[in-house]
Amino acid sequence: MTVTVEEPISPDVEVDLVEKPALVPSLFPHMPSTLYFSTADERVELLPAEQRKLLKWKITTVTPNVVKNTISRSHFKATKKSHDWLGCWGHHMKSPGFKAIREFQKLNHFPGSFQIGRKDRLWRNLSKMQAHFGKREFGFFPRSFILPQDIKLLRKAWEDGGSKQKWIVKPPASARGIGIQVIHKWSQMPCKRPLLVQEYLHKPYLISGNKFDLRIYVYVTSYDPLRVYIFNDGLVRFASCKYSPSMKTLNNKFMHLTNYSVNKKNSEYQSNSDDKACQGHKWALKALWQYLGSQGISTTLIWEKIKDMVIKTIIASDPYVNSLVKMHVCSPYSCHELFGFDIMLDENLKPWVLEVNISPSLHSNTPLDVSIKGQMIRDLLNLAGFVLPLREDIAPSNSSASSSTNSLCEVVREKWRSDISTDEKVKRAFYLSQRFGDQDFCATILDVLTPVDVRVLAESEDELSRKGDFERVFPSHASSRYLRFFEQPRYLNIVLNQWEQTYWLNRSKGINLLRDLCEKRVQLWNLADSVHHWSSKSYHGHRSPMTRSGVLVSQRSDAEDEDSSDREVQSVTMSLPDMSLLTTISLSPSPISSSSLASDSLPSHNEL
Ligand code: ADP
Repeated sequence: MTVTVEEPISPDVEVDLVEKPALVPSLFPHMPSTLYFSTADERVELLPAEQRKLLKWKITTVTPNVVKNTISRSHFKATKKSHDWLGCWGHHMKSPGFKAIREFQKLNHFPGSFQIGRKDRLWRNLSKMQAHFGKREFGFFPRSFILPQDIKLLRKAWEDGGSKQKWIVKPPASARGIGIQVIHKWSQMPCKRPLLVQEYLHKPYLISGNKFDLRIYVYVTSYDPLRVYIFNDGLVRFASCKYSPSMKTLNNKFMHLTNYSVNKKNSEYQSNSDDKACQGHKWALKALWQYLGSQGISTTLIWEKIKDMVIKTIIASDPYVNSLVKMHVCSPYSCHELFGFDIMLDENLKPWVLEVNISPSLHSNTPLDVSIKGQMIRDLLNLAGFVLPLREDIAPSNSSASSSTNSLCEVVREKWRSDISTDEKVKRAFYLSQRFGDQDFCATILDVLTPVDVRVLAESEDELSRKGDFERVFPSHASSRYLRFFEQPRYLNIVLNQWEQTYWLNRSKGINLLRDLCEKRVQLWNLADSVHHWSSKSYHGHRSPMTRSGVLVSQRSDAEDEDSSDREVQSVTMSLPDMSLLTTISLSPSPISSSSLASDSLPSHNEL
């Protein structure tokens, strides 16, 4: 029987709870607030009854207690049947099933994420990347063979490996160590197909003679643009029997497998309640870093390598997920996903990805689990950015309900959503037609920000400000090098990456700029609503290049000289030749002048 340790919430303790507002305001004007999630030492204030009614969470048979506890502290009511729930933590489902998710709802999966969540697909996709970009970049997954297809290749590798070589055999879509065997003779190969046969990492890094692996929590809030976060803590799971390389021990699962579900069956298994202690067969990741640090090992280097593998693995799933999202998901708001990466360190402390779980266990049966998974889920739900829906979203047929809830913020949300223009597409096409690597050219992508650019940048900054103990690893100031790994370059990834290069050392400057843009944007809408068409004069009275529905921004840093504004204007006029009749907002200290159109610092339109 499994014992579940609930977080202690006694009335006596509650007196000392820290009171927290129910909503986290956006950093930007006219952007929606998000719902706040707390840990057990905080009390979330009640929303007014009208709004509280909207707080419904769909519970399924797999919704973990740690999620149930966290949402109930934010006053969500569990529902099994209703169709107006805001959040659900459930099973993965077939891609067409995502069509049923409404645009104010969030499910904890993306369609297509099984492309890294199944062992066979993970290998196929990473080996494809390896073939393209080389082993140096993608050599972090043990060589594998999928049976029956790869049987001949396996036979050859088996012969080349010699009789000392060990292999680990896994069902391609299972978990918890079920059906896994370590073998070294061809005759030991199970007859059951399909199978994944993988090189066994036979020299693991050992602590006190035991093998271990790491569970790393990776959270993706969006695939286009890609935003990947990694939790700063995790779990270290030890085998419960000391490691031996002897062939005779290969069928000892307590020695060769590190799954908790396997090792808990060993009478020698020792649990550990303390997230600081290096004891028992499960540690906090931070305790491992502490331990390795005390041995004189640079843990930063290991962590950097882990982050690198995580980013590349997620990028390997990008083409599948994005095409399925486009096909089956009404709103990008509706999908987010927590991945559990299983990582092993070999004797040289090189990390290897063993597998990626798309439904990592959130079961918590020790205070250590509660502490790490509880904190992680709280931070994840805050990052997710749950927004109270508009009443008409929930009941689109009931138009009378809308007038009472319509605020400026809600109107703005509607406008943001519908704001994809032709100009937007022209800008995207222009930047996507370029070869990567030209930093100067990429930098110009921020010179003219379209409404969608502004919205995505503001959403990203808001999200980052709610990261808790997650670290955003993509995009980051160092993410330019990853852009080439995308099978298909994505415009918003280039924008966000460039934004990071420009503002990571001075984030408040970027945020202030976006604040102004959000404000101006709404002014423009008001203007548009009153005039019903766009004036050919600019906001500052200058004729200048601008997007019809957009915001032209000159936001070069003060240190940059005027050349850059020459360049920025030309890039627009050349790429968006019909923009010169459209309205503009410039936030630059000196508005763009017509003389700046004379620069020839960029290739002409025909050369592109
Ligand atoms: P499951 O989904 O069933 O947990 P894994 O691929 O994570 O399957 O494997 C289970 C355990 O087997 C891992 O936690 C690790 O201890 C061990 N293991 C898996 N692959 C390898 C490998 N290539 N080399 C060494 N040990 C491995």
